[in-house]
Amino acid sequence: PFDVLVVGAGPAGASSAIYSARKGFNVGVAAGRVGGQVNDTAGIENLIAISKTQGSDFAAELRQNMVANGVDLMESLQAERLSKEGDLFVVEFAGDVKLKAKSVILATGARYRTTGIPGEEELRNKGVTFCPHCDGPLFQDKPVAVIGGGNSAIEAAIDLAGLASHVTVVELMDHLGADQVLVDKLNSLPNTRVLTSATSKEILGSDAVSGLVVQKSDGSSETLPVEGVFVQIGLVPNTEWLEGTLELDRGQIAIDRSNATSIPGVFAAGDCTNVPHKQIVVAMGEGANAALGSFEHSIRN
Ligand code: FAD
Repeated sequence: PFDVLVVGAGPAGASSAIYSARKGFNVGVAAGRVGGQVNDTAGIENLIAISKTQGSDFAAELRQNMVANGVDLMESLQAERLSKEGDLFVVEFAGDVKLKAKSVILATGARYRTTGIPGEEELRNKGVTFCPHCDGPLFQDKPVAVIGGGNSAIEAAIDLAGLASHVTVVELMDHLGADQVLVDKLNSLPNTRVLTSATSKEILGSDAVSGLVVQKSDGSSETLPVEGVFVQIGLVPNTEWLEGTLELDRGQIAIDRSNATSIPGVFAAGDCTNVPHKQIVVAMGEGANAALGSFEHSIRN
């Protein structure tokens, strides 16, 4: 068995693994893809000690540093069940893979929430996107819509207004939920429009997006003549496989200040937890905290 098994290899998982390995532990990391969401971003400029890097370069560094620290890295694994056999935790993965460990750190991150409206799935990567940082430049001088009104949606709209010819924000609620400073910034831009109390009904197009059908509060419909639709309605934690196993908080793994979960010996870090901010440096800090929490737990037990 591993001393520590980390599930997930994004910033949080990599940080947990490296911190645990540097305590002399025998560490396994089992994950879908190394880097996690970082792979979906182009430039990263908020890593504090690195002024600018690319998502793919950053993911490559995470891999290299885990391997250099002697971590046993196992990729393309999808965890499906966590249980306990005697003193050991058992994580079962798709494809009949079973790994055992004295302590487990969960760092399975999150993924984009989808609207489920017609056209969203069919036109994915044909104009429908979840990633303004990756795909914004594809819509240079073209009209786009952003679905959502939270911080990520309004940040995306501000970002896109610098590239696209026009940006329409479509929000279901009667107001934007984003921070006022972002709303003010959006409203100061000449090529933006905000539709509140507006329901996105359908994304039109066959080979490429040609419009977004929106139902407004008075019941009337409008087809926005957009070529891109950015869906920005939040993140879903990758924790479905843990339902009924440990305490979740609105789907996110509930943790204490040592990143301990409701199961002694199981820790969690990053976007899969109820930590309020979902950012790389936060996930890395949380990963370190989880590793140190698990280390302290192990020397007391
Ligand atoms: P993730 O990065 O989501 O990694 C999760 C890991 O768990 C992956 O290895 C995945 O394969 C694995 N996994 C998931 N489920 C399972 C399972 N069942 N079994 C096994 N493995 C599993 N943050 C910034 O600080 N700066 C930015 O500029 C920035 N830009 C972003 C741009 C985009 C487009 C996106 C989507 C996010 C951005 N973020 C940015 C946020 C940042 O990427 C996340 O906060 C960070 O990646 C979270 O790290 P994490 O390790 O918790 O989870």
